[in-house]
Amino acid sequence: MGCCHLLEDSDASVMIDAGMIGEPFLIKRLVQQLGLNPTSIKAILLTHGHLDHAGNLAWLKEWTGARVFAHAEEHRHINGDYPYTGINRWCGRLEAAGRFLFRYRPAAIDEFITDLQELPFWGGLRVIHLPGHTLGHCGFYSAKHDLLFSGDMMASYFFNVHKPWAILNSCPAEFPTSVEKIRQLAPRLMIPSHYDFRDGELHRRRFCRLNAIQDWG
Ligand SMILES: [Zn+2]
Ligand SMILES: [Zn+2]
Repeated sequence: MGCCHLLEDSDASVMIDAGMIGEPFLIKRLVQQLGLNPTSIKAILLTHGHLDHAGNLAWLKEWTGARVFAHAEEHRHINGDYPYTGINRWCGRLEAAGRFLFRYRPAAIDEFITDLQELPFWGGLRVIHLPGHTLGHCGFYSAKHDLLFSGDMMASYFFNVHKPWAILNSCPAEFPTSVEKIRQLAPRLMIPSHYDFRDGELHRRRFCRLNAIQDWG
């Protein structure tokens, strides 16, 4: 239902998000196939703290010994005590059910990240704070690859490209500013967290169409 990403970099690889139930098996298999040691994963970068992104965080942190990087506002999502209001309460209810079903365990954020912070991973990753879905929702931009991991700014499936459902958004009024930030950054490639094909140009085109902005590619 969602994708977490392993950015391979010999002895300093990085995970973007930790995924959900069932994924420890897939992550272990991938790491093994790549001939990596779990301890070569040095950091876990969270786009945000929703259960489908932080579900395996405690396991992944223990398995790799990696440090967890996330925006301070995501702390309460990870802990499961974010004060959802209005229609967004449904998100909290879904998460509460999921936490119970999947025996979720929270994990601590080791380093709080801020907008435009440069992280020394994968040839350099810049934090792009993109609130709207959650207050501390962040993307990660690789200038080297001209690639933005855009988290939950959209879900990108060929049969259904959409913005996150209203019940899932904590501060939707912030979306236009975040969309504009991406438009100005103009990354050649975009990889969201929910998608069908791993094709960054395709997702960039879909993002532009979805938000009725001109494609810069
Ligand atoms: Zn989310
Ligand atoms: Zn998500």
